[in-house]
Amino acid sequence: MKAELFYTSTRGKAHRITSSQAIVKGIADDGGLYVPSFIPALDLPMTELIKMDYRGLACYVLGKFLTDFTPEEIRICVARAYDDKFDSGDIAPLVKAGDAYFLELYHGATSAFKDMALSLLPHILTIAAKKSGIKKEIVILTATSGDTGKAALESFANVEGSRIIVFYPDKGVSLIQERQMITQEGKNVFVSAIKGNFDDAQTGVKNIFNDREILKLAEGGNYIFSSANSINIGRLIPQIVYYINSYLRLLERNEIKECNDINIVVPTGNFGNILAAYYAKKMGLPVQRFLCASNENNVLYDFINTGSYDRKRELKLTMSPSMDILISSNLERLLYDICDGDTDLLKGLYESLLNNGSFSINQQMRERMSDFWGGFANEEQTLSAIKKAFYSYGYLMDTHTAVGYYVYDDYKEITSDMTKTVIASTASPFKFPHSVLKAISKNPEEYENLDEFSMLDKLSETAHQEIPYPLKNIANKKILHHNICDISEMKDFVKKSLDI
Ligand SMILES: *Cc1c(COP(=O)(O)O)cnc(C)c1O
Repeated sequence: MKAELFYTSTRGKAHRITSSQAIVKGIADDGGLYVPSFIPALDLPMTELIKMDYRGLACYVLGKFLTDFTPEEIRICVARAYDDKFDSGDIAPLVKAGDAYFLELYHGATSAFKDMALSLLPHILTIAAKKSGIKKEIVILTATSGDTGKAALESFANVEGSRIIVFYPDKGVSLIQERQMITQEGKNVFVSAIKGNFDDAQTGVKNIFNDREILKLAEGGNYIFSSANSINIGRLIPQIVYYINSYLRLLERNEIKECNDINIVVPTGNFGNILAAYYAKKMGLPVQRFLCASNENNVLYDFINTGSYDRKRELKLTMSPSMDILISSNLERLLYDICDGDTDLLKGLYESLLNNGSFSINQQMRERMSDFWGGFANEEQTLSAIKKAFYSYGYLMDTHTAVGYYVYDDYKEITSDMTKTVIASTASPFKFPHSVLKAISKNPEEYENLDEFSMLDKLSETAHQEIPYPLKNIANKKILHHNICDISEMKDFVKKSLDI
């Protein structure tokens, strides 16, 4: 008999809940993250999987994890998520440039990879809430380093039975990212900048989830909190799909043979996207190495190379703001896996992180993550990577993808490993026109005096590419949200938004 898949917290053994319950709750009461009790295997041969289009594959993979959903429910969610909001029929096209394959994850409604999961989440959440017998209004609390916020606002705006509240770091996101958020329409959307960085926003949100006073008030107001961040397992599962899809497309194009290993490069912040790739491998995808690429906030690079996670450092603001993170939440899920679910050990590590700002893992755990390679790029190297790809291969990439591309080149030089490599391309270059122009423009005077919105047109002209539809006309949209609060006032902002 097949074992039943259930969900449990990384920090407490006892509770077993269904996928719907895990998705509705977002984060466990003990502060841990929900993880599946095992990773289901791909039980069809590649020769069968290859026949599926993106939607078909999504239904297949989601069905393995969302075990209390019917196939019809999943099919409806997938059809609503991956429709003509995506400006590519392939949903996540794989584009070859030089010897690398860029997995473009930014063709959705807000031009960043967060759309891949967030287009789906409201549909899944609505069904999950029904299954769990929840009649309350669901409040999505979100901290964003720039891209999650807009993707969540866009997908939850005007969804019946939900409200969405987004906190972003003031001056910690790009001008375009901020404008995308503060022009969001919808009667159930609330947005505020906070005077702090992303880690402050994320910690503030996690604290609200565990704050008795506010939970009680929410209960009285008939609200229940959930999360659209990658701490929610419902965010991660849809992300597994595109890694498997990229492998199938390589097979289809005869770039690899069945069973050949590939490498996967992921520009990383909260460790969610790379964890999804790791889960794909655990399902049976042949992956040799995961290249975890960081910007100057290279806490993960240090961790992979030393086994010690040390957040006691200043957070730097870089041109890849969605990776300006020192507390990579989803690392906890990897650690859970490589210590075979030893929740006491994990609790100890995270207490140490809270109290001392650091923790170290044992040798055995280190060996079990030897398929991870850590690299990083500084600001200059990031620009050089954009320039190289553009002038050598005519390929235009954003600053986050460039961090990945730089680390890929560096890795090849160090190891001489020529394994075919997929690079997660996480945002449209048009989200960061200033930095991208800085990298490719031959004459700074051409753009330096322009405002960020005119730079969109300049970039379009310089790179001979059209501005993606979600970013066109953004300069003319009305600003609807003007809020800014201290970290200590986040709770009050939630109360005010919910009128509790
Ligand atoms: C969120 C984001 C990342 C980091 O992804 P994680 O899942 O947090 O590691 C990288 N690039 C872009 C453009 C992003 O929006």
